[in-house]
Amino acid sequence: MPESESRPIVWSDELWDDLLRETDAGVCYQCGTCTATCPLAERGALNVRQLIRLGAFGSGVPGRAVDSPGLWSCTTCAQCNVGCPRGVDVVEVVRHLRGRAWKRNEVPAGLRPLLWAEFQDGNPYRMPPSQRTQWMRGLSGPAAGSSDGASTVLYVGCTASYDPRAQRTARALARLLAAADVPFRLLGENEVCCGETPRALGAQGLFRDLSSRAAESLRTAGATRVVTISPHCFDALRAGLSNEVEVVHYSQLLDELVSGGKLKVGGTPAPNLTYHDPCYLGRQHGVYEAPRRLLESTGAKILEMPRNRRWALCCGGGGGNMWRESDLEGRLADERVTEARDTGASVLATACPFCITCFNGTESAGTGRLEVVDVAEVVARAAGVSSA
Ligand code: SF4
Ligand code: SF4
Repeated sequence: MPESESRPIVWSDELWDDLLRETDAGVCYQCGTCTATCPLAERGALNVRQLIRLGAFGSGVPGRAVDSPGLWSCTTCAQCNVGCPRGVDVVEVVRHLRGRAWKRNEVPAGLRPLLWAEFQDGNPYRMPPSQRTQWMRGLSGPAAGSSDGASTVLYVGCTASYDPRAQRTARALARLLAAADVPFRLLGENEVCCGETPRALGAQGLFRDLSSRAAESLRTAGATRVVTISPHCFDALRAGLSNEVEVVHYSQLLDELVSGGKLKVGGTPAPNLTYHDPCYLGRQHGVYEAPRRLLESTGAKILEMPRNRRWALCCGGGGGNMWRESDLEGRLADERVTEARDTGASVLATACPFCITCFNGTESAGTGRLEVVDVAEVVARAAGVSSA
């Protein structure tokens, strides 16, 4: 079976009972607002209203397979949650149905080795833990997290640890923290995946296992605050760790540092800049203004795209789609980059390594010159700190 093909859900009373007990699908009254706002619906990849109906009511025939169109295409962008008049957490329903598919061994072929890599190597890139610190090339002193006794941990995350493009963001951020005299530590080889991909794919057992491994590493390091680079780590650590550790996204911390005068910016501003809200920072956690304040603190003027903040179009990389072949007719990232270019901006800033990967993939497909940068890199340039 091709990896992109949807698998049916085998209907049972148990599935129904579980869904109604563990999610709020039962209050759905089938208005279809979720489908009307879902960016995958117009591409024919997903009818989420129908998916909920199938999940909640099925065919009514125990043991009969019901179609689950697009179950694995959902990017967990939460656009549907924003518009639902009944307050249904549709993303949770999707995760739950995916979890049921795992229990019945009805998952796309490529996902199993991905989750084995998470289990065995502690990352989805199938990279050895011994290479987790390679992103630190050229860093030394406080920027290398060598502050003794620091209770703030910079949680680099798998993408910024292993992906060469995202490594640049990690280095820029480490240098910015050092420039602002924020003592921090790194977990190095003891850092494991936050578990965002297993969580999004409905593999709750593996997510809980990775969360407890992350919690143990943080406890051993004496951490009371974790700063994440990826909004996906931000979301997963907040969901998986107990309240003893505060989890913040780096944009929130840098915003505080700049506002408080601890981090000086004021270099050459980036010209004609637009900002893309990552789903897991904006819609999922309401962090819209901190990245914008940061960008404006550099002197940049933000040219907003028509779809911004809670209505921002997803880049397409969430929900496990970073590791699956897309079965969409037009990639969401293509459309988003077109929107960015239509503002007249020559720089597209965002604050998520998945978004950057998706947008850069679009650029290399020949859709025109638009520099895609992380907000941390814009701030680093304005602060006179290397962003290489
Ligand atoms: S928007 Fe909410 S109530 Fe309407 S169909 Fe979707 S989940 Fe159900
Ligand atoms: S999370 Fe996004 S992709 Fe998934 S159903 Fe909702 S709107 Fe569609």
